[in-house]
Amino acid sequence: MIPNQLMHIALITFEEILGKSGLNSLLNFSGMEAFIDTYPPNDLGLDQDLVDFNRLIIGAIELLGQAAARPILFRSGRRGMQTIIEQFPDLLGLGGVTPEKADRGARFKRLGEIHRVLTDASIGLFGEIYTLCENKEGLVLDIDPCFWCHGVVSSSEPICHTAVGTSYELARWVLGDPVTVRETRCSAKGDECCRIVIFRPEPDER
Ligand SMILES: [Zn+2]
Repeated sequence: MIPNQLMHIALITFEEILGKSGLNSLLNFSGMEAFIDTYPPNDLGLDQDLVDFNRLIIGAIELLGQAAARPILFRSGRRGMQTIIEQFPDLLGLGGVTPEKADRGARFKRLGEIHRVLTDASIGLFGEIYTLCENKEGLVLDIDPCFWCHGVVSSSEPICHTAVGTSYELARWVLGDPVTVRETRCSAKGDECCRIVIFRPEPDER
């Protein structure tokens, strides 16, 4: 089970982006009518089922279509991470974490450290599904099995746009603009895992 706060943040984020009636349509469509006007409390009680998180995301893709869902899911990921950073940093181990002003190389190193903290906290919440490593390209996060796209088996392109949005916002918080984040593998299109890459920034110009 996952914390009430996660589902709470997901629902207020979707309400902000889709509007109240848009969110209600999505909840109806996804068989989650029970959440209409009754969001989980904003606390750390472990009362929420990860399956519902997955249903919400998959429901958005099925209801809106992949092309229309993409920017909405990306934005919801960004907004969700922003809310966590600003209001609920303890949820993902980010309490007291402050990115320093430094050159881009030093900031990228700091991003690796902060991402490690967040990944460990996420493993505590979601289980041993994350592997974080650094290579020449940048920071590489593998998710297997991936609860964002679980249940979709026939996509021709990566669909974990929410996960890309959360990584994008985290990277932007530490590195500043611009950042490049892409999902380079996705279980939904038959890859062995979902892979989110935060690309190493160009060195500062001199
Ligand atoms: Zn994926």
